[in-house]
Amino acid sequence: MLVVNGTLVTFGENHRIIPSGAIRIQDGLISAVSATSDLREKYPGEEELDAGGKLVMPGLICAHTHFYGLFARGMSLGGEPPADFLQILERLWWRLDKALGLEDVRYSALVGLIDAIRNGTTMLIDHHASPRAIPGSLDVIAEAVNQAGVRCSLCYEVSDRDGPEATQAGLDENARFIAKVKSQKGLLAAAFGLHASLTLSDETLARAVEMAQSLDVGFHIHVAEGIADVHDSLQKYGFRVVERLADRDILGPKTIAAHCVHVDTHEMDILRQTGTRVVHNPRSNMNNAVGVAQVPEMLESSIEVGLGNDGFSNNMFREMKTAYLLHKLAREDPRVLGADQVLTMAIRNNAQTAGLFFPRRLGELAPGAYADIVFLDYIPPTPLTVGNLPWHVIFGVDGAHVSTTIVAGKVLMHNRELATLDEEEISARSRELAAKLWQRL
Ligand SMILES: [Zn+2]
Repeated sequence: MLVVNGTLVTFGENHRIIPSGAIRIQDGLISAVSATSDLREKYPGEEELDAGGKLVMPGLICAHTHFYGLFARGMSLGGEPPADFLQILERLWWRLDKALGLEDVRYSALVGLIDAIRNGTTMLIDHHASPRAIPGSLDVIAEAVNQAGVRCSLCYEVSDRDGPEATQAGLDENARFIAKVKSQKGLLAAAFGLHASLTLSDETLARAVEMAQSLDVGFHIHVAEGIADVHDSLQKYGFRVVERLADRDILGPKTIAAHCVHVDTHEMDILRQTGTRVVHNPRSNMNNAVGVAQVPEMLESSIEVGLGNDGFSNNMFREMKTAYLLHKLAREDPRVLGADQVLTMAIRNNAQTAGLFFPRRLGELAPGAYADIVFLDYIPPTPLTVGNLPWHVIFGVDGAHVSTTIVAGKVLMHNRELATLDEEEISARSRELAAKLWQRL
């Protein structure tokens, strides 16, 4: 198939803007990128998808999310509002996840996947918890992912907070699912999920390391998200969180460390030296009032920080805007974290993280890369160049501009019409399930 008549924004090593550009898609991959006239001449008679002059760019990547979080939307907790992050976990998230059954898991994933397709997010790295419905929960999400046609890496968050049986079931669910997807070459991949230092004993970490090493995968874990994680680690183990996790062999180039809000300079050195993939989630951090991650410093010290949404909407344009604004305000310095750096995090660094899971390149329009492509109905009101593109994205582009979403060469949405999922039916069922779940809380 040829995507024709697009204003291509390629990203990648050879980043350029190609007016009236075309992309040839073959077997789920991009096989050629050039002018429309050029590719039409080379491949006459090939099926065409007309981009109608829209911006065409690689699909966005979310490096940390929780599909199940969607069922918290509009939920009333009752009583006093949580006063700190630990109370947010105890009164909201750990009540919600305990109430999830497998059908809730399926529909929260489906609704999240619709949101992803609508906002041009074509690859997500999910972190799942449903302590009363652990075995098979990743299969249920995997079925939703395959139905949607989006690319995902999944994991189950192992934690000691629900007793030894749940710990064991979580470990087993990761191991089983990782082994299962390893033999497949589809849209699915897996990491070994861990909740956070404060809910994991040394014994559980040791068992997880043994299992993950034998499966040759890295971890996906929350790191120093709130100050309580640091206090817990210092008190119980005499180490700060990153020091403890490094000492227990959790960190490394295959491991995703979400948040890293409360890390000191020594811990930043450890993150860099171990090549750990740090993921920043500014909307979540602001909502939970956990603090401001030292993202500018981490980027400066060559840590390739990426961007996740931690269960907020799958509109990664919003996450980019929030990152862009947050650090300026926090430092009272408008020079901090330029739009170019934000796009490096969202596009390049996230593509590197996604590269842990898929052998071909993501986050660029180039021959050999996956054909994960979005069209944006954005008409630039000022000149658009490779140099100023990041500022157009931050100040002008939003998820609502996404008109077409393609993953692995398959069209999942065209002109805002979803091709793989029935939004009305899924949302109706999701509302029923969420209402029942809220009653169970
Ligand atoms: Zn999270």
